[in-house]
Amino acid sequence: MGVILGAVMLPSLILAYFGFRYIRQEEVRQSQLVVENLRIALTNAVSEVDKEISGRVEATFDSLASLASPSVSVNTHRLRLFAAHNEYAEEVFLLSRDLHVVYPRTFRSQVKAPTMEEILGSPSLEEHLIKGEQYEARGNISSAIEEFSSGLKAAPMRRARLAFLVRIGRCQYKSNKFFQARQTYEQVLVEDGHRFWGEGSPYHIAAAVNLAQIAAKQGNTETAIDVLAGLYGDLLGAFDRFDRRTFQYYLQKVKSELESYHRYFTLPVKVRVDSLSKVEQENLEEPNRRENLRRRIVPLVEAAVRATSKPNVLQFASAGEQDSLHQFAFVDRGEQSQGIRIVGIAIPVSALINSIQESVNKIRVGTNLRIALLSRDGEISEQQSKGGKTTLLEEPLSILAGTMAGYKLAMVAPGGTRMEELASRSLTLYYVLIAAIVVVIAMGGVFVYLESARERELTQLKSDFLSNVTHDIKTPIATIRALAENVNEGWVKSSERQRHYFHVIGRESERLGHLVEKTLDFSRIESGRKKYRMEQVSAREVVDNAVERFRTLTDGQDVAITCEIAPDLPTLSMDEVAIGQALLNLLENAVKYSPEKKTVVVKASVADEHLAIAVSDRGVGMDKSEISRIFEKFYRSESPAGRKVSGSGVGLTIVKDAVEAHEGHIEVVSKRNEGSTFTIILPLEQKGRHADNPPG
Ligand code: ADP
Repeated sequence: MGVILGAVMLPSLILAYFGFRYIRQEEVRQSQLVVENLRIALTNAVSEVDKEISGRVEATFDSLASLASPSVSVNTHRLRLFAAHNEYAEEVFLLSRDLHVVYPRTFRSQVKAPTMEEILGSPSLEEHLIKGEQYEARGNISSAIEEFSSGLKAAPMRRARLAFLVRIGRCQYKSNKFFQARQTYEQVLVEDGHRFWGEGSPYHIAAAVNLAQIAAKQGNTETAIDVLAGLYGDLLGAFDRFDRRTFQYYLQKVKSELESYHRYFTLPVKVRVDSLSKVEQENLEEPNRRENLRRRIVPLVEAAVRATSKPNVLQFASAGEQDSLHQFAFVDRGEQSQGIRIVGIAIPVSALINSIQESVNKIRVGTNLRIALLSRDGEISEQQSKGGKTTLLEEPLSILAGTMAGYKLAMVAPGGTRMEELASRSLTLYYVLIAAIVVVIAMGGVFVYLESARERELTQLKSDFLSNVTHDIKTPIATIRALAENVNEGWVKSSERQRHYFHVIGRESERLGHLVEKTLDFSRIESGRKKYRMEQVSAREVVDNAVERFRTLTDGQDVAITCEIAPDLPTLSMDEVAIGQALLNLLENAVKYSPEKKTVVVKASVADEHLAIAVSDRGVGMDKSEISRIFEKFYRSESPAGRKVSGSGVGLTIVKDAVEAHEGHIEVVSKRNEGSTFTIILPLEQKGRHADNPPG
């Protein structure tokens, strides 16, 4: 047995061991694979985000290129508009060749007014100027104009020309030559070209204010307003040519001049003045912004440019503060560049985070997995953290040349998901299969074990059977031999006594015969040689014969047998010997398993096309578990009382076989210590026989 179990269980255990070990290894391999794949997906995500955002920053620089082209002078207004509308460039900055901030601009530090010598540059020109002014003071305007005009002709430099021109204009105005004065002032504006030159006050302002007065004098208020508004705008655009105080002074002057025409303002003029006052506001802020940038970005750019000069390549710089709200991107146009060398923008970190978030949201990794942005302190951003998330893997967000250092992208799964789960999901099937194989093998082992146990039990039962039969045969033989010897020796003299002896010898022979028949019947059934010979016989006769034979066998025992046989029992097809033998077996058991009151009742009747022959006793009875086993071959009572009764355990096997051969069955009703009823039920017509002999 141990060998069988070993042969079956050991391989199955070994199989299970190796199976599970293999799956375990596979699981580790798979989870490495999953981690590797997730890692790749994450790395791809980082470079995708980088590509997208770099692309957008580059696009910003492309459109900036035209605005900050070296050949065009810096257009404050357009640069301001650009910064207002671009998602990244919150601030634009331009640096000159020597890395000075060109834009945003600021006021100059205190400007010292140039001396007359500086402006005119030669003593002969000074002479013209002084003479002219003396004529003008004395009221000799035409001589004054003459003197100034000579100076103008002799002046080689624009600045000196302007000094004479404004004086000519003034004299023309004084002598009411408005038409000429206007022309002179217009020339002043052209020649000054928004440089706001002057000896104290700028020629540009003097010219424009006088132009406005001439227009007003001639009743042309609209032109006067237009000129003054133009002056207001020009002054604002040139704010970086003045120190703050001087600028404020002129601004105030121009504004009050303009204000004096207030009641003539049309709606378009009002709008124009309003928007100019907004620009004025921005102008006042611009120096602060510039100062801010100069402190934060110029040193960084300088360092970067000195370390490596990478002309025309987008470079990035971080202000380096822990919570710096801006990153800087710039392009170095190279040392040889004319005018503006560095074009750069300040990008608010919040704008970068928004576009990273947007770009990350577009990436799909799997049903449950997604990629999230982790802040510097490792937090998943608000909008993604809903519903609880587990971070499986992290990867530094190396975008824009490291500007977002400290930020990470993470692979996240719904709350509670573990990395191993992702790998083992696909292997569950293997576990189930291995377990199923092991279970099947183990069941096979158990089956083999039970089968061989049953085999052993049967061997034991067979040997019990042999000794039981031998014992049962010995008893009648011994009786017969003793009685025969007594008669033979002549010890039994009286003929009555002798008759009795012969009667007993006959009865014992009958018993012996029954025993031998029983044993032979069983052996035929076992070997499949048992044949039933069906004949039309009277049911009553079969029952009567069996009861009669039973009476003979129990002759001399205290047995009360009652018969209740219905008068109208039919004739039916049966093997009368076999059914008789079966009834005899039941009657024999009824007596054997009734230790005290040996009361046997035989009932025979017909109902529902069936013949029922019942044998009842008031003996030891059986419980349900025993009833279920009594028809097994060699089964014998397990109770000590039942064991004492002689028997071989094949009686009921024979009964069952015979009854089933007649297409019938046996019903057993029994109760422990109350008695049992065995009923043989046979069909009046056997279907099988009909099949053998079809009608017609
Ligand atoms: P045996 O030779 O043991 O009587 P059987 O096949 O005739 O063999 O009966 C099998 C077993 O059925 C008996 O050992 C007994 O336990 C039980 N049995 C049979 N008939 C009766 C009965 N009338 N009353 C109680 N037990 C019975």
